[in-house]
Amino acid sequence: MKMTSEACVVSGIKNLDIKRQDVNYDGRGTLVKITRGGICGSDLHYYQHGKVGAYAVKSPMILGHEVIGEVVVSDNPALAKGRTVAINPSKPCHVCKYCLGGDENQCVEMRFFGSAMYFPHIDGGFTQYKIVDSEQCIPFDPSVDGRIMVFAEPLAVAIHAVNQAGDIHGRRVFISGVGPIGSLVVAVAKAKGAAEIVTADPSERCRQLSLTLGADKSLAPDAQDWIDYQADKGFFDITFEASGHPSSLGRCLDVTRAKGTIVLVGMGGAIPEFPMMTVIAKELRLTGTFRFVGEFRTAVEWLEQNIIDPLPLLSAEYAQRDFTEAMEFAGNKSVASKVQIVF
Ligand SMILES: [Zn+2]
Ligand SMILES: [Zn+2]
Repeated sequence: MKMTSEACVVSGIKNLDIKRQDVNYDGRGTLVKITRGGICGSDLHYYQHGKVGAYAVKSPMILGHEVIGEVVVSDNPALAKGRTVAINPSKPCHVCKYCLGGDENQCVEMRFFGSAMYFPHIDGGFTQYKIVDSEQCIPFDPSVDGRIMVFAEPLAVAIHAVNQAGDIHGRRVFISGVGPIGSLVVAVAKAKGAAEIVTADPSERCRQLSLTLGADKSLAPDAQDWIDYQADKGFFDITFEASGHPSSLGRCLDVTRAKGTIVLVGMGGAIPEFPMMTVIAKELRLTGTFRFVGEFRTAVEWLEQNIIDPLPLLSAEYAQRDFTEAMEFAGNKSVASKVQIVF
């Protein structure tokens, strides 16, 4: 089967196009008609800077890794034509030592949607038709609003982050930086029974959103309350650094109590003066978190069961032909949280 697909392609800094491509389905995997996608921070990085970290766009690449769609045809009989599916953008190798150990997110040969890490680059999902491995298709209840299900990928990231902290039930939790991921971490912490959730963000709009998603209190970086939270070697049992800013990490170290845990979620650069002594003397546990493993399925289930409502984070929807406007709007953090594209 041969289809023509219009794809949202980035070729470099501020260089976006809608390109027509042929999609040839040879009977292997699943051909999906993409219906909707969410713009993520990494898509914006490729658009604004032509790269994410050290990975620069060297040839045109389809953006997008937060997509849902409908099955056109599949090699898996369980995926009937028209079945609504959330697409897991991870494609691990299944044979490296990490995959064999169940840590597929650490796969040394990971093929993740919309990533310039390898050359040729791995195309993403912002296209009308896409062939994926059938195991990447997670069916969901068609009565669930697609605007909600597009949050499966970022929610999976948030659930994986919270899972890194161990048991969060009954704990005092701090989340520094409440963009979409930080706010979803709030919702997950709430769903998992955190006793108290406090957030911090310079943006009043983001602070309000975090309260809507389940935070008990949200503070500006210059609020007076921080002094109290620093008393007795810190207040919070578990802290999530979700901003990626060096100044935020210092605050996280100060307000997390001795023996507490800090999960680094936000992707930041190097910290010139890392306060190592605080980690040592307070016996803090400092851990990273990266993407997700089985949490993608959990996220689909949670959204089906309405365990969390991500819709307050949806700022706008755009038709595919208005892709450039969508990316411009999504890049304006004073007004936009999540922006979705309708295909
Ligand atoms: Zn994402
Ligand atoms: Zn692997």
